[in-house]
Amino acid sequence: MILPSLQEAGTPEWRPIKYSLFPPLGLATLAAYLDSGDNVELVDQHVETLKLDDEPDLVIIQVYITSASRAYAIADHYRAKGCYVCLGGLHVTSLPEEAALHADSIFLGPGEETFPQFLDDFRMGVAQSRYFSSVRTLEKLPPIRRDLIKREKYLVPNSIVVTRGCPYHCTFCYKDAFFEGGKSFYTQRVDDALAEIDRLPGKHLYFLDDHLLGDPRFAKALFDGMKGMGRLFQGASTVNAILKGDLIERAADAGMRSVFIGFESLGNNSLAFSNKQQNIGRDYDKVIRRLDDLGIKINASFVFGLDGDTPDVFDQTVDWAVSKGITTSTFHIATPYPSTEYYRQMQAQGRLMTNNWDLYDTRNVVFEPKGMTQEQLKSGYERAYQDFYSWKNIYRSSQQHANLNQRFRHFAYSSGWKKMEPVWNYAIQSGLLEKMRKVLEITLDGKQKEARSDDVHTLQRE
Ligand code: SF4
Repeated sequence: MILPSLQEAGTPEWRPIKYSLFPPLGLATLAAYLDSGDNVELVDQHVETLKLDDEPDLVIIQVYITSASRAYAIADHYRAKGCYVCLGGLHVTSLPEEAALHADSIFLGPGEETFPQFLDDFRMGVAQSRYFSSVRTLEKLPPIRRDLIKREKYLVPNSIVVTRGCPYHCTFCYKDAFFEGGKSFYTQRVDDALAEIDRLPGKHLYFLDDHLLGDPRFAKALFDGMKGMGRLFQGASTVNAILKGDLIERAADAGMRSVFIGFESLGNNSLAFSNKQQNIGRDYDKVIRRLDDLGIKINASFVFGLDGDTPDVFDQTVDWAVSKGITTSTFHIATPYPSTEYYRQMQAQGRLMTNNWDLYDTRNVVFEPKGMTQEQLKSGYERAYQDFYSWKNIYRSSQQHANLNQRFRHFAYSSGWKKMEPVWNYAIQSGLLEKMRKVLEITLDGKQKEARSDDVHTLQRE
C-alpha cells in the first residue's frame, strides 16, 4: 500500500515537517480488511524511501491531484512487472478515465464497502476493473491497522476520522465529486468512535474530519463521551457550527485546543460565488471571541482569487487575521479541481489555463482570475504568507488575547510552526519527533478561561 509523495517533494517549497504530520490513515483503514495471514507493507513516500524492487501480488496506491503523475509512474512500474495494481482516492474519483490507463482496478468514492468486495473478487480471480461505492456506512468498520503506521516518523500519529464528508456544498471542494452517487455525510457510531479514541496511546489527537461538528447530535455525544478522558485535540469546524448552541463549549470541555476554520473570504460576493452558505452573513468576530474565551486556537483558511476578489483582498485579509489574533493561517490560490462545480464553471467560461495537475497545488494560478491579473494573484498570495508570518505580525497577533498565558502560547505555536524549520528538520532526521510532540502538547494545553454561563447564553440567544 503506497502513498506517493506530492509533486512538491524535493522542490525548494518542500517543508518536511508539513508532510511528517499525519500518517496515511486512509490506507491503514483499508488494510483492516485484509486477512490476518496477508503480508502487507504500508509505505508513505513523504517520510520514507519507496523501494521499487519488490514484486507483491497486489499494489494499492492512493492518488491526490499533485501526486498523480508520480502515482501513475509507480503504477506503471509495478504493472510492467506483472503485479496487480489498484488506484483510488480523490483524483481517481475525479478523473476515472485518466486513472484507469494505469491500473487493473480503480476505486471511485470511499472504499469501506468496495475494498472488501474487491478483495473477495481478487482472491477468486474475478476482480473487476472498476469499483463504485454506493452503500455508505461506517458500521462494523474493523479496527484500523495502526500497527502498520511507523509512529516515530510523524508528529501527530494519533490522527483519527470519525465521520465522512460534510453537509455543505462549496463549489471549489472535492467533496461532492468524491461522494457522488450516495450519502455525502455520515458518521461512525459514537461508541465505536470512543473505542477508537480509547485505543490511541498518549494524549494528543487530531481529528481529520472535514467538519467534526457537522452532525450536532453525534458531536455532542462524542464530546460528552470524551469528557474526562484527559485528551487534547484539534479538529475542523465551520463558522456557523461555532455560533450555534453550546457544541463548541462541549468540545472545549472534552479537550479541543485548536480548530481549523474555512473562513475563505471576508467578502460576501466571493462567499456567494463559492456557495459558502454556512459563512455568508455570519459574524466572524463573534466566532473568534467565542473561541478565544474558551482558549481554542484558530487555524484559519483563506482562498484568494475567487470571482468577487479584487487586488486589495490580500492586505485586507492579513490585516484582519492579525488584528483578530488568529494563531495560524493557510492561504490558497483558488484552484478549480477537476469534477468540481468550480472547474465546470471555469471550463464553460474558457478560463482554465492548464491541465498540468502538478500545478493544481493552490500555490499556482491555473485559471484566468476575474478581478485581478494572474501576476497580482500569485504575488499577492506570496505576500500574504510573508506578511502574516512576519515576526512583527506574529507578535502583534499574539497580543490580541486578553490572557497572558494565551498570548505566550499563541506566539510559541505560530513561530514554532513557521519560523523553526531547521529545528523541525533536525528533529525529523534525528528521530526526535516524539519529543517534539510533547512540546506541541504543552503549547496547546493551558487552562482555558471558563466561559461564563451568562456569556454563553447571550451568544446562544444571538
Ligand atoms: S465546508 Fe469544507 S468540506 Fe464542506 S463542502 Fe465546504 S470546503 Fe468542502
